[in-house]
Formats: sequence, structure tokens, C-alpha cells
Amino acid sequence: MSQRKKAYLDVSVSVCPHCGAFYADASWYAVVLESDVECGVCGNAFNPKKSLKDRILIEFELDESGKVVAVKKTKDLK
Ligand SMILES: [Zn+2]
Repeated sequence: MSQRKKAYLDVSVSVCPHCGAFYADASWYAVVLESDVECGVCGNAFNPKKSLKDRILIEFELDESGKVVAVKKTKDLK
């Protein structure tokens, strides 16, 4: 049996306070950078850190060549 490899991504879920659209972005971008982003639905700017709803760690299960076999939520970071 071949050994599965793993990779992780810290993801933040935020909501646009103007129209209620939800976004999932890499946390380094959405939270750590603390910059405003433009909502793709209504066009208004908002701060993902201030309207953060959830932050989780996603685990990617990879095959020997690095292709993603499965994705799962591993833990809550918020
Ligand atoms: Zn919006």
C-alpha cells in the first residue's frame, strides 16, 4: 500500500456586511494582511477580518505525485 501525503490550508470564512455574500479565503490574505477587499457581488469594500465568521484548517490528502485525493475539515481555529 502506498503512503498518502498531506498538505494543509488555513481558511477564513467572512461575510460581506453590505449584501450578505459569503467568502472563503486563505487566512494569510483575509485575516493576517488585514486589508479591505471588494465584494464581487455588490462591489462594496469590506474588511474580512472584521466580518470573520469562521476559520478552519483544511487537510488535503495527496497521492504520491501530489494530486489531491480527498479534502476534509480538520479543526476550528477561531
Ligand atoms: Zn457584497
